[in-house]
Amino acid sequence: MKVGVIGAGQLGRMLALAGTPLNMEFAFLDPAQDACAAHLGKHIVANYDDKVALEQLAKQVDLVTFEFESVPAETVAFLSQFVPVYPSAQALRIARDRWFEKSMFLEQGIPTTAFANVLSQADLDQAVAEIGLPAVLKTRTLGYDGKGQKVLRNVIDASNAFAELGNVPCILEGFVNFTGEVSLIAVRTREGDVRCYPLVHNTHNNGILHLSVASTDHPSQALAEDYAARVLKALDYVGVLAFEFFEVEGGLKANEIAPRVHNSGHWTIEGAQCSQFENHLRAVAGLPLGDTTKVAGTESAMLNCIGRVPDSVLVLQELDAHLHHYGKAFKAGRKVGHITLRCTDKEKLDEKIKTLENYL
Ligand code: AMP
Repeated sequence: MKVGVIGAGQLGRMLALAGTPLNMEFAFLDPAQDACAAHLGKHIVANYDDKVALEQLAKQVDLVTFEFESVPAETVAFLSQFVPVYPSAQALRIARDRWFEKSMFLEQGIPTTAFANVLSQADLDQAVAEIGLPAVLKTRTLGYDGKGQKVLRNVIDASNAFAELGNVPCILEGFVNFTGEVSLIAVRTREGDVRCYPLVHNTHNNGILHLSVASTDHPSQALAEDYAARVLKALDYVGVLAFEFFEVEGGLKANEIAPRVHNSGHWTIEGAQCSQFENHLRAVAGLPLGDTTKVAGTESAMLNCIGRVPDSVLVLQELDAHLHHYGKAFKAGRKVGHITLRCTDKEKLDEKIKTLENYL
């Protein structure tokens, strides 16, 4: 089977690495000449709205998927004329826009913080009056790793915030005093079968994911799975979807969804019976899903390598560590690799996390 992927970053690279044993071949479309998945398949160097290139991609693959949600929904709709695309253009349209996404949470009865659509400074002033401060102003689309958002603590912060975020459509969210952040990686087949991985605890540094730890018997697991099932069904979603939540007293508040394989699911490569990457490919290819449980008798975590990958010898001398170097140029704030830790118990895992953190 030939799989087309829009985007050829590390997520595309890990998809290709997971799909190769299933006899899948890959073609990527990405404007960056040096995209890190490129050498794992054919690489069409083109912009995401280049219709000639998109048609060229569509004609040489059996289906198309994407590795990041900033792809314009029109690109996916255009490709769908020629070849099946999973997830669908409609799912992408909702998941890439915080206003549509949060409105869907409300429709599905999923708790989320108060929010308002902000299309001007006047809208922002009114939203601040209704929701109160502190609050978080976020661009509706294209934000990632804490970019495209601003915490508003007082009226001075709010007074020019719409322009500070670029005079683009925004959403104002009530500030959530959360006790923790968790994410659920869920996957749904074309027939509607759903499987979920254990909830993952996430810690961020400067808005960028630093550490993900897969939980065991998390008290909100069933709740998160119920919320994810509602969203997956509402979107008639096919593939992996990541659902980020705030942990609050009494349960969870939905933060956002990502219509793709997700950084907080990288631990599944070594830590789960079947990784998020393989399960995404199985889902979009119409194959049965793999087991989403942890490898029996193990506990797993993932540490991101931001800006640089530590010396491989240092990392690999730790028997429980698995290094993933994305082959990208090192640059401050850039995700250039990750390390999975898979240990026999939680105590050992916590100890190894501390050891490896020293190398980052
Ligand atoms: P996001 O891009 O929406 O995932 O936001 C990035 C990070 O900002 C989250 O992981 C939270 O740590 C923080 N954050 C986002 N939205 C809120 C909110 N409404 N209240 C408090 N913190 C938030």
